[in-house]
Amino acid sequence: MTLRPRSVRARLALWHAGVLTLLVCAFSGAVYLLVRGQLLRDLDERLDRDLATIERTYRQADYDLAEVETRAGVELFEVTRGERVLYRTAGWTRLGLDRAATRAAPASWSSPRGPWYRVEARSWDGVRIAVAADEALTRAALDRLGLVLALGVPCAALFAMGAGYLLAGRVLAPVGAMAEHARRITAESLDARLPVEDPRDEFGQLAGVFNDTLARLHDAFERLRRFTADASHELRTPLTALRSVGEVALQEPREPAAYREVVGSMLEEVERLTGLVESLLLLTRADSGRVAAAREAVDLDALATGAVDHLRVLAEEKGQVLTTELPVAVRARCAPALVRQAIVNLLDNAIQYTPPGGIIRVRARVLASGEPAVEVEDTGPGIAAAHLERIFERFYRVDADRSRRTGGAGLGLAIARSVVGATGGRIEVQSAEGRGSLFRIVLPDAGAPGSPPA
Ligand code: ADP
Repeated sequence: MTLRPRSVRARLALWHAGVLTLLVCAFSGAVYLLVRGQLLRDLDERLDRDLATIERTYRQADYDLAEVETRAGVELFEVTRGERVLYRTAGWTRLGLDRAATRAAPASWSSPRGPWYRVEARSWDGVRIAVAADEALTRAALDRLGLVLALGVPCAALFAMGAGYLLAGRVLAPVGAMAEHARRITAESLDARLPVEDPRDEFGQLAGVFNDTLARLHDAFERLRRFTADASHELRTPLTALRSVGEVALQEPREPAAYREVVGSMLEEVERLTGLVESLLLLTRADSGRVAAAREAVDLDALATGAVDHLRVLAEEKGQVLTTELPVAVRARCAPALVRQAIVNLLDNAIQYTPPGGIIRVRARVLASGEPAVEVEDTGPGIAAAHLERIFERFYRVDADRSRRTGGAGLGLAIARSVVGATGGRIEVQSAEGRGSLFRIVLPDAGAPGSPPA
């Protein structure tokens, strides 16, 4: 079991009280010792003065030591020579001071039950003067001081604890308020934010960080929600087509050739569905970072040639001119399979959206910034500025009907951007309505550091 209190407020108050108590103890001790030293020094100075008076009197030829007692008011002293007592005050004998071990240095002495005296002696040529002073007043003053200080310590500790508790309560109040606010935020109210009183102080910064996290969570939830809704919508279309084709076919008996045709068109829909599901899987994997394959130094010309050869037949079918400009020395550090996928998607779009007779150019080059890039340029319809920002979004199509007719689900560019991002590159686009489009995949150059080991 630990004695550590759960609440930060209590802990702060205890620390505050502990430190302050230590300080007050040290301060009280120092004050007590200082005052005690000063009072004793005063007493000792008086003893010295008395000793000097007695000695002066003794050294006069016709000395009368009784005068010291009556005139100078020194009540406690004795003067001896060897064993012989030359003078001893009545008080000296009465208080039993002859038993005190008087030394040259002043010291405190008390009879077994009696009060305390400060005693000091001086001797020369066999003569010895001893003098004493009552310590009662000094001791009483010190006792009073000690009492006041001793009472002050617990009072200070209590006060420090109370003040610390109140202060910590005030300081920590925003944390409580933040916790209360945060508790009320659920998946449905992710757009709520913590109040930030002063963004510059520590709590303000904490609330700021929390709010940023909330904003990112909100975005992620929103994207997920939209993605799920769009994906379900996209999957529903081919499924509905499949069902209605099947239902119509079953309405009346048909010739085998007619059935074959129905099955053929059903297979077409199934193929679209398969493509869609594969795209979704690829996107999900890219999102979770699982496509981040190892990067290597790659010749972009060879990579682009492979992709172009793969799709050349589609361009020929549409009567388009597909040209390449692939110099040998363009190298990039990337995952070749991902970049190839992106080039295929861009080229596929170019072929799809460029009318017959159009020209499509695939180019590999080093940009002015020194970065290697692959460009796919077409003389197609171009993309209006209003759509340019959004074409990389999932399921976004400029012309939904036209795209859907050609089999596009609005995922091609989203996938291209995801996979290129996963291999450390980016995709740029330049296009204007009616002026063709230029898509550019920019990659890290071959000298860049490789991907960290997974
Ligand atoms: P889709 O599957 O519909 O082709 P993409 O994500 O590949 O989806 O493209 C999104 C939209 O961007 C397309 O619907 C199309 O309108 C537009 N687009 C893409 N590439 C081109 C291009 N080369 N020329 C004109 N428009 C294009």
